[in-house]
Amino acid sequence: MSEKKGEFAHALLAWYERNKRDLPWRRRQHDPYAVWVSEIMLQQTTVAAVIPFYDRWMARFPTVEVLAHAPLDDVLKHWAGLGYYARARNLHRGAQEVMAKYGGRVPSDPAQLLALPGIGRYTAGAILSIAFNQEAPILDANVIRVLSRVYAVTGDPKTSAATQAELWRLAEEAIPGGRAGDFNQAMMELGALVCTAAAPRCSSCPVESLCAAKALGEPTAYPQFQGVKTWLDVEDVSIVIRDGQRRVLLAQRPPEASLWGGLWELPRATRQEGETLPQCAARAACEAVGLAVGPVTPFGSIKHVVANRRITLHGFTADAPPDAAPVAVGCARFVWEPPDSLKHYALATPQVRLLEKLAQEAVQGRLDFG
Ligand code: SF4
Repeated sequence: MSEKKGEFAHALLAWYERNKRDLPWRRRQHDPYAVWVSEIMLQQTTVAAVIPFYDRWMARFPTVEVLAHAPLDDVLKHWAGLGYYARARNLHRGAQEVMAKYGGRVPSDPAQLLALPGIGRYTAGAILSIAFNQEAPILDANVIRVLSRVYAVTGDPKTSAATQAELWRLAEEAIPGGRAGDFNQAMMELGALVCTAAAPRCSSCPVESLCAAKALGEPTAYPQFQGVKTWLDVEDVSIVIRDGQRRVLLAQRPPEASLWGGLWELPRATRQEGETLPQCAARAACEAVGLAVGPVTPFGSIKHVVANRRITLHGFTADAPPDAAPVAVGCARFVWEPPDSLKHYALATPQVRLLEKLAQEAVQGRLDFG
């Protein structure tokens, strides 16, 4: 490994110096909080999608201290649209722990970092290597792909513990002394720009001559992922309940809910077997806030994918009974708001899209809503 290690690091670092993208978090890469935020946002989300969210986040929560003292609602509002909201809640709790235990300084000790909510071996490695230049390895999807190909690593990195252990070992051994931060970012950058999943550009690759998968003539055979994603198709229904002042009821999901915890939504339920969509809409109102609504009217649907769930979200409207007295039965709390104010709440992406659909229908005169 050592001769190949030296050549690999040298070629990769030289390429990185010439080709690295000017990304907002790279301008603050010695600030461990900035690295922490960017790495959490980049999990499951592309660089292009993350940039505007990162800029808005850092403008509103520029330090650990500001984030720690912000209300959770505000934190979720700034995350809304990125998905996987547990990441935002963990960042918030993590900032509060850093304030309480370390006086607001993100620790540079691996064990202390790993004890913070939402920080696993990968994120800890990124913070330690990029912000503190410690020789800590990282292993994200891009690095897994590059190492699997350069060293023709066998086995499925998702399911085989032996393959994962081998990749962590290679990631650690490959780090050149004193350049951990740049080197780890260079591997991620190569995976993002050149050694892509479906179409690696081997002829433009700085480590082509060292790459075992290329030499074998089958770069895309690595990593050796085996499983096929199993999709779960679900039909959800959300109901727009209006009171006599034409305000809309929004319900906040319990913070501990695994999906969209702490976010706001139009009361929503998942259609059960044998249930019609209107029945499901009426049940959503009843389960969230204990309301028995009158006739329900459909206004459209949207499709959304989150994790392995392919969701069709149907929208219905209904008027609240004149003597309505909702109670927070299946939600943390609820509010009545005029339609124009709904955008100020932290809503999950499908809810935002359903409200856009509702607005379109109203503008086109197919629905009395405004
Ligand atoms: S030579 Fe091709 S497969 Fe190998 S690391 Fe470079 S881009 Fe990836």
